[in-house]
Amino acid sequence: MLKPMSCKLLVIGAGPGGYVCAIRAGQLGIDTVVVEALRPGGTCLNIGCIPSKALIHAAEAFEAAKAAAEANNPLGISASAPVLNLAKTVEWKDGIVARLTGGVAGLMKKAGVKYVSGTARFENGETVIVATDMGEQEIHAENIVIATGSVPVEIPSLPFGDRIISSKEALKLSEPPEKLVVVGGGYIGLELGTAYAKLGSQVTVVEAAPRILPLYDAELSAPVARRLAKLGVEVLTSTKALGLSPDGASLRVESEETARSLPADKILVAVGRKPHFEGLGLEELAIDMEGRHIRVDDRCRTAMRGIYAIGDATGEPMLAHRAMAQGEMVAEIVAGHKRAWDKQAIPAVCFTDPEIVSVGLGPEEAKASGREVKTAFFPFAANGRAMTLQSEEGFVRVVARADNHLILGIQAVGAGVSELASGFGLALEMGARLEDLAATIHAHPTMGEAVPEAALRALGKALHI
Ligand code: FAD
Ligand code: NAD
Repeated sequence: MLKPMSCKLLVIGAGPGGYVCAIRAGQLGIDTVVVEALRPGGTCLNIGCIPSKALIHAAEAFEAAKAAAEANNPLGISASAPVLNLAKTVEWKDGIVARLTGGVAGLMKKAGVKYVSGTARFENGETVIVATDMGEQEIHAENIVIATGSVPVEIPSLPFGDRIISSKEALKLSEPPEKLVVVGGGYIGLELGTAYAKLGSQVTVVEAAPRILPLYDAELSAPVARRLAKLGVEVLTSTKALGLSPDGASLRVESEETARSLPADKILVAVGRKPHFEGLGLEELAIDMEGRHIRVDDRCRTAMRGIYAIGDATGEPMLAHRAMAQGEMVAEIVAGHKRAWDKQAIPAVCFTDPEIVSVGLGPEEAKASGREVKTAFFPFAANGRAMTLQSEEGFVRVVARADNHLILGIQAVGAGVSELASGFGLALEMGARLEDLAATIHAHPTMGEAVPEAALRALGKALHI
């Protein structure tokens, strides 16, 4: 047993929620300890957001090289067929991960945060025991933040192992599987499924819902479905994965109309994630749960005084930027600041091809809230920059109150629209109206010009359509 420690704030988990909380707390002069079982940066930096976007970028670069090698390339470029060395791609991706996780460790150190490497377990509401390489470390804390993140949901008939993989394994394959079956046509299934289709795999997506990306409305997901078809990805909707065939080489699937066996070298199961509490000893605490996640109030307080929860541990939306915003808020609350969750919107971006971004309410959600709404879209087919980028698929859509034109939501689907999310978020947080979007000069030529154009169209005075 190591010498017991005590601190004002103990953060369990150094993912985007935990590390941001610890850094801000340290900056505010709070005596802070963070405990991490694996590596700083959590799911996001090590096996999630960053590595998946690196793989997606490499797949896009490979796809562009393949296009250049095709006869009659409209850009007048000719090249020979590219060759992929996925092991090298993964090495490059690991380099980015190492730089970022090293950076996070450095930032925590700079903020004066003490880092304990090991797995934490609650003994009671003020004491945590950490299993470290050097033995057990007891830590007493006035405040404890649970930031333990999430793990992939397993389908009982398809346990992870061998050819059945989660996103974690999909991000470190040494070569693209010849036949990849993806179970779940949500964020992970489509981001990684598209990447592997571009890298040369024959991809089939099995989705239980009647359409892919059920989290987004059909208008937003339709261009993605069209692109998947062009990439040769077979999408089976309203279809359930049953289990492996007796020889283990195929996935048996079933829809109302048919039952099939899909040959598969790898089966990527991406049917959602669930909060990670295994071994944490939550049963020692008197906190309330809401389904699988911890119930928190608008200050991320649990039902137990001094115990907070943030990030994926608190349920949907399981997004890194939400975890970070919660972490920052909790650190300031512990420092005595008057803070509460007052965000207007949490942007959601899906890094498919084309990308989707949604901030605030979509047209149907806005109508469902009982308001009269004005909505309009501007297609990238009428945007000069989109033409020069060969990216005319998609649009920007605005949703506003009909009475005072207050923006309720902005969505877009198109190449690179993830970068528009910051402007969309700012518009909602600042309470912009259609007139504000329409009157803001957007640089020409940019895809962003579709934003004032969509607002102008909602006001009945579109210029370029
Ligand atoms: P995590 O990042 O999961 O971190 C929790 C940490 O706690 C982990 O490091 C874990 O080791 C540690 N831990 C758990 N239990 C203990 C314990 N008992 N003791 C000590 N340490 C413990 N989100 C986005 O916003 N954008 C994206 O593009 C995006 N892409 C993704 C792609 C993939 C493939 C995946 C899987 C996820 C993606 N996400 C994305 C989701 C994002 O990764 C999560 O929302 C985010 O990481 C949640 O942060 P967190 O701090 O709550 O938890
Ligand atoms: P998801 O919820 O996005 O998608 C899961 C999909 O699987 C859904 O479409 C669902 O209908 C389907 N499904 C569920 N059970 C099924 C079954 N038995 N057979 C077939 N389909 C089934 O979950 P995910 O893709 O695993 O991602 C997990 C979470 O990680 C996301 O919810 C998101 O919070 C986060 N994430 C975010 C990003 C991003 O922000 N760009 C990227 C990746 C992951």
